[in-house]
Parts: sequence; structure tokens; C-alpha cells
Amino acid sequence: MDLNQKVVVVTGAGRGLGRGIATYFAGKGARIACVDLNQEDLDATVAACEAAGGEARAYLANVAREEDVESLFNSVVADFGALHGLVNNAGITRDGLLVKYKDGEVVSKMSLQQWQAVIDVNLTGVFLCGREAAAKMLELGVEEGVIVNISSLARQGSFGQSNYSAAKSAVAAMAEVWAKELARYNIRTGAVAPGTINTDMLAAMKPEARERLVQAVPLHRLGEPEHIARSVAFIFETDYFTGRCIDMDGGLR
Ligand code: NAD
Repeated sequence: MDLNQKVVVVTGAGRGLGRGIATYFAGKGARIACVDLNQEDLDATVAACEAAGGEARAYLANVAREEDVESLFNSVVADFGALHGLVNNAGITRDGLLVKYKDGEVVSKMSLQQWQAVIDVNLTGVFLCGREAAAKMLELGVEEGVIVNISSLARQGSFGQSNYSAAKSAVAAMAEVWAKELARYNIRTGAVAPGTINTDMLAAMKPEARERLVQAVPLHRLGEPEHIARSVAFIFETDYFTGRCIDMDGGLR
């Protein structure tokens, strides 16, 4: 797929990797529907997309709410008149050990709220957006569509992340399911699993902690949002790619 003039929905576009993906795609001439929870963040991303030479619009929606997602895709199609791609990027963490055992007793457990919050956004949100995007692409009769799910290095199982690892493993699996189900309509799918990427969250870490993270990466440097954006673009632009997950992690996995 040539991204020029293609309509692509990017969730969680208000910050971090989502903003990086949206602006990179805008730089290739794509028309971006930027989705997030916060209007100010969205406005900044729209401005960045326009500065990169693309067209963008902001949409406030919670990807975990079915009614939000349905009306989001109705609005995108009404506004742009087309839909060619979706990047399922919105995600949260609520870390905690499954059980914490100290001095002969269980002192804490991962709560059902911690579990459910992450499953709602990182898994149900991806399901809902993927479902609505595929439905709209079929109704519009697109010649080629692409759906990419942002997974994580945590799909291999990360300490303190039962909820997050389960969801990130599942979204890579869903990309495989959708590849099989949607290939007949020339809708391709894929996943990208970032390792440790240089976003605001990491910039805010103590220098020693950040350095430990860097040294754990075989390439001894953090990834940049553009590495992830380029991986997502590779999936869009490569018409024989479908269903697989790209580990973009400097060798960590
Ligand atoms: P971030 O917190 O900077 O940005 C995530 C964005 O998603 C935020 O703008 C947030 O408001 C939005 N969001 C959260 N819940 C939402 C909801 N219910 N509906 C709509 N928008 C919602 O995070 P990031 O570091 O840019 O991560 C982006 C994606 O990449 C996430 O899925 C994350 O799990 C994944 N990831 C990030 C890294 C990393 O190193 N940064 C590594 C692996 C995977």
C-alpha cells in the first residue's frame, strides 16, 4: 500500500509512540484520524501531523467502550469518506505481582481492577477497533486494507505484568487470526512488539535506572519512536506481509 492519501486511524495518538506513528505516516502523505482521551494531546498531534505535511483530525474516544468505537468509525468514514488502515496503539499498564509473599505471608495480590483495566484497554480495545475497522473496510469495498496491533516485548512474559503480558500476547495472536479471516478481502494484518523505547515515560526515570535498561539491550541503546513507526509502515507498504509480529527491540527478545 502506498500511504499517500490513505486514511489511517491511529489510537492512542495523543502521546508517545502513537504520536510518532501518526506524524511519520502524515509525512508520507497519509490522512490520519488521531484517537485519544485528551483533547490537548490530540491537538498537539494534529499540529505535528500537519507540520509533517499530512492531513489529520482529532477524535476523542475510549477504545474500551463499544459505543465510543462504533461512533468513532462512523465519524471517520463520514469525515474522510474512506478507511484504509488502523494502528491499534492505545495501551496502559497497571503493574503488580500475581502474589507478593513476605515474611511467611501473602502481603498483596494483583487486584481484579488492575487485571481488568489493562484487559479492557489493551485487549478489548484492540478487538473492538479491529472489528469496526474491518467492517467499515468491507462496507466501503476497499481494494486493500491493513490493521496493525502494537504488542510488546512483554508478550514473552514480563515480571509483574500478568495483565499486560497476557494482553500483548493476545493482540499478536489476534493479528494471526485476522490474517486468516480477512486475507480473502485483501485486508492484511500484523503486529509490532517494541522493546524499550525512548518515550516520556523513560525520560522521566532516574538516570541509573534508565542506564540499567539501556545496558540490558544487546545494542546498548534505546529504540526511538521512529523505529516503531517505520516497522508499522513496513507492514502497510509490503503487500506480501500478513499475520506476523515484528520484534523491534534491539535484540532484547
Ligand atoms: P503512552 O502512555 O505515552 O501513550 C499511550 C496513549 O494511549 C496515551 O496518549 C493515552 O491517553 C492513550 N490511551 C490510553 N488509554 C486509552 C483509551 N482507553 N482510549 C484511547 N486512548 C487511550 O504510551 P506509549 O509508550 O506511547 O505506548 C504506546 C503503545 O506501545 C502501548 O500499546 C504500549 O503498551 C506499547 N509499548 C510501548 C513501549 C515503550 O517502550 N514505550 C514498549 C512496548 C510496547
